Amino acid sequence: MTVKVNDSCIGCGACESICDAVFSVDGIAQVDESAVADNMDCVKEAAEACPVSAIEVE
Ligand code: SF4
Repeated sequence: MTVKVNDSCIGCGACESICDAVFSVDGIAQVDESAVADNMDCVKEAAEACPVSAIEVE
């Protein structure tokens, strides 16, 4: 499973508040790839909550 944040990110912070193990927002969202496997539920939740659909889960 790969998680990416695309250029649409507006840095709103929603993904970090939903899933702070994986996402940290410093201007735009950063992904800690090493934490993705253990946190897929909240990654999916964050992807659905992102207002600009910037989180791509493959
Ligand atoms: S929720 Fe979406 S727009 Fe907001 S910081 Fe995260 S990736 Fe960026």
